[in-house]
Amino acid sequence: LAGDTTIIVLGASGDLAKKKTFPALFGLYRNGFLSKDTHVVGYARTKMDLSQFRQRISQFIKTPHEEIKRQLVEFLELCTYVSGSYDEDEGYQRLNKIIEEFEKDTSGDKNRVFYMALPPSVFVSVAKGLKKNVYSTKGVNRLIVEKPFGMDLDSSRELGKALAPLWTEEETYRIDHYLGKEMVKNLLIIRFANVFFGSIWNRHSIANIQITFKETIGTEGRGGYFDEFGIIRDVMQNHLLQILSIVAMERPVTLNAEDVRNEKVRVLRCISPVKLDDTLLGQYVKSEDGSKPGYLEDETVPKGSNCPTFAAATLWIKNERWEGVPFILRCGKALNEAKTEIRIQFQDVPGNIFNNTAPYESLILDVLKSDHSNFVRDDELDAAWNIFTPILHKIDQAKIKPQAYAYGSRGPSGVDDFVARFGYKRPAQEYHWPERK
Ligand code: NAP
Repeated sequence: LAGDTTIIVLGASGDLAKKKTFPALFGLYRNGFLSKDTHVVGYARTKMDLSQFRQRISQFIKTPHEEIKRQLVEFLELCTYVSGSYDEDEGYQRLNKIIEEFEKDTSGDKNRVFYMALPPSVFVSVAKGLKKNVYSTKGVNRLIVEKPFGMDLDSSRELGKALAPLWTEEETYRIDHYLGKEMVKNLLIIRFANVFFGSIWNRHSIANIQITFKETIGTEGRGGYFDEFGIIRDVMQNHLLQILSIVAMERPVTLNAEDVRNEKVRVLRCISPVKLDDTLLGQYVKSEDGSKPGYLEDETVPKGSNCPTFAAATLWIKNERWEGVPFILRCGKALNEAKTEIRIQFQDVPGNIFNNTAPYESLILDVLKSDHSNFVRDDELDAAWNIFTPILHKIDQAKIKPQAYAYGSRGPSGVDDFVARFGYKRPAQEYHWPERK
């Protein structure tokens, strides 16, 4: 963004803000992507003084040596906090005054980036309050929204309808932090800048594709929150489907955001809603040695909940390139290992093309550069919900009982048969990438 920018983090007292948003902002600062004139303002209802706020947002920032410690002190000097409510003008007006103070000394455009680190229940009232009271008339405005973007197709459209009159699609950045992982970004280059890959990336050479996200931890402490969503809404409908669309899409005309997003929507529209027969659901129970609790033992989880903490679903893309190739999405909590993997099985060659980096940092930088290509567009969101809404409604109506699996295991016992049904051949010996030192 040309000119000066103030970054406003709404919900700055929360979990996401301290674990991801502020560490990512500090990363940008340290790497010279935020100018010394940039200001960061946290906003939330919790009352705290500046030193409490600065202490809270630095909790998850690692300072392995003196130089980084010094940079953190400088960065915290740029951060301030305003406490106010989400549904009254008064707090927003105070926020606006403080931002205007910062902007007073600067010439040029006065841009504002609003990062909504908030539960979806307050998205609309905050979006309204900001537009009415804090919108910059002297520069560019950006609104970064976190998932969940609705609970199903209808609620997603409703949320879209409520936000659309206030914030244009151009101003809105729906963050999916998987799209910030370097390896996901590099997939485009791997696929489209290599003649070798281009020629084999189709049903003639590829037998099946598995996209897997495994976590070792359960829902400890946040089970009540998780129970409203379940693993399909939490991970599959957004992160895994986003990866799928990049793996499967046709070559975009250019690498411009709109061209990339057009191709992603096009491929999503070729996928029919997931069928019950092509789905396997699980819920973890106590670990075999009894040391880790089952999902239902979490006091915040409703008694007898059928909420899936594991899901495998096979999607079929009805187009010339992929007809007949199963795309198996798998994700689960409380499993034996933590990994994110795309496994493309050619006739018998498996492969892992993932590693982890700091996703949020690169995405906030994209917002500052006004690059939309790694964010989810409204019609893309619509197409994604369309694929999962029927199965989600069945699950919500408790018509599908998840299979039990032990905390720390590989998932429900049926999972091997499930993937084998779609042609995946398990190698005699699993390949593991060596740990990076
Ligand atoms: P959070 O800690 O529960 O909430 C953030 C802040 O919002 C809280 O500190 C609280 O601030 C305010 N808040 C909480 N519940 C509220 C309510 N019912 N009504 C009004 N205000 C409320 O949430 P979070 O984990 O930071 O997540 C924020 C958003 O990011 C959510 O949409 C979440 O789904 C998404 N997300 C989170 C993570 C993560 O790692 N945590 C990862 C991906 C996406 P005050 O009370 O001080 O106002």
